[in-house]
Amino acid sequence: MSSTSMQEKAIILKILYDMDDVLWPCTQHVFGKLNIPIERETDFRIENNPELTPTERDAIIHEFQNADNFAEMNFYASARDILRPEELGAMVGIHSNAYSEAIAQHKLRQIPELLPKIRPEQLIVNVVTPQTNRKQISSDILAFVDDSPYNIRGSRAKFNFVPRRPWNDNSLMRKVMLKNGGEIIQDSATAPLDDIWTSDDYKYIIIVDDLVTINEMIYQLVLKLTNKEEQNGKI
Ligand SMILES: [Mg+2]
Repeated sequence: MSSTSMQEKAIILKILYDMDDVLWPCTQHVFGKLNIPIERETDFRIENNPELTPTERDAIIHEFQNADNFAEMNFYASARDILRPEELGAMVGIHSNAYSEAIAQHKLRQIPELLPKIRPEQLIVNVVTPQTNRKQISSDILAFVDDSPYNIRGSRAKFNFVPRRPWNDNSLMRKVMLKNGGEIIQDSATAPLDDIWTSDDYKYIIIVDDLVTINEMIYQLVLKLTNKEEQNGKI
């Protein structure tokens, strides 16, 4: 096989990260500012959350729309490592929604400051309203990282990584995540990951405590699949 046709046959492994509450602690920032314990954020859709008073809900939604909160938001330390699977030939992107153009501009400025090597096509920031704040994740995405149970529900990615948060780690939110099928892995430390990475099952939803571990798991997933493809002669 010529090198050109081999390249055409190569499968590009695509990884997509959310930004808010994945790469930086957006909700923690807002709740801390309002002095509301973050444990009371038990529904990703604030307006549905019975743990919060109407006044608190309004204040939280207001702060999520306040661009000042995004101007100097600090990233999690391991956010700087998310591009590492590109060493193995994978493609890593960021898909974030923003409630205003001003918030979108802060994100578009801050990501390249953190990741100088990121190419413009790797970074998507869409301006949305609370009503249109959703993502369509297609099945050509291998690994999707998002804290929103609603985005996980709609995702057609095979591997969905969910940073464990009060607003996704409860029985109601697990029901939301499973609505379009899939299997939840609650304890990634004891799960048979090597088998999961090569399984034919449609959709895994893997709850993970922190971004460091998510990054490492995705790297191992890509490593496993690229080795497998090499053995099959596809790469
Ligand atoms: Mg998020």
